[in-house]
Amino acid sequence: MDKAPLIILLASPRGFCAGLERAIEIVERALCKFGPPVYVRHEIVHNRYVVEGLEAKGAVFVENLTEVPENVPVIFSAHGVPKHVPAEAKSRHLFYLDATCPLVSKVHREAERHERLGHQVILIGHAGHPEVIGTMGQLPEGAILLVESVEDAEAIQVDDPNQLAFITQTTLSVDDTAEMIDVLQRRFPKINGPKKEDICYATTNRQQAIKAIAQDAEALLVVGAPNSSNSQRLVEVARKLGCDRAMLVQRAANIDWTALKGVSRLGISAGASAPEVLVEEVISACRERFDVTIQEITVTTENVQFKLPKVLGETALSA
Ligand code: SF4
Repeated sequence: MDKAPLIILLASPRGFCAGLERAIEIVERALCKFGPPVYVRHEIVHNRYVVEGLEAKGAVFVENLTEVPENVPVIFSAHGVPKHVPAEAKSRHLFYLDATCPLVSKVHREAERHERLGHQVILIGHAGHPEVIGTMGQLPEGAILLVESVEDAEAIQVDDPNQLAFITQTTLSVDDTAEMIDVLQRRFPKINGPKKEDICYATTNRQQAIKAIAQDAEALLVVGAPNSSNSQRLVEVARKLGCDRAMLVQRAANIDWTALKGVSRLGISAGASAPEVLVEEVISACRERFDVTIQEITVTTENVQFKLPKVLGETALSA
């Protein structure tokens, strides 16, 4: 039987960002240099495929430092950690490597700078996300106020509107965050903000690329994990633009083919924690069922490089 034609609109940029490639490289190089096991506090990136691949090489993922034995290296994940975590590692004389993305570390430094200047800090972000826990943990407990929505921004009470600053999580919806910032700036005209916005280049570019395909696509698959903030935001951005059949899929095996019935134009993208091999797997699964033509829609190209920690060699990585 002839296969039905399917045009795949492939968003670009998509998938891995420089921060998560660096984090994975840190684990791989640590395994080579020190030998297994290497402990990692929290999933190094929010992707089971990546985590299981590293586990097979000897990485051990734990949620708490108390689970890390003496005399083995421990790595902190790309999302960043509260200050008490490296302090605890030091007090136990653990050898640790920090794989926090430099763009998350930049937000941590902003929080510290505002505290030094006497500003009360508002963080725009999602409660419970590891990055938010890490950023709030840069200042003493209770020092940072969290805003998750426009309603929160309207309701928040501050100590002094003249001594106020905001920072944001790096992986938020660009448009939703702009709305929250508008509310804060209306209510507190003297609020200080970041010189260059905190939402990272990878999040911004992937959302722009999704916007470029969402209106043309009858359905859209975002390859990514349910606990990946930037993957979830990509699905939301596509739905907001009218692509109701925008879905998150972790692997090809998770695709709901009945939901794609009758679709002739399918958008595909991937969150910053999803490797390209999983995008290829999804495209291969489409080829088994459809006569596929691929149109890659590129909104920008990326050439961001982050250094590795000195102890692992500083060779720059690019995305
Ligand atoms: S999504 Fe952005 S902030 Fe997060 S690791 Fe990637 S580059 Fe860094």
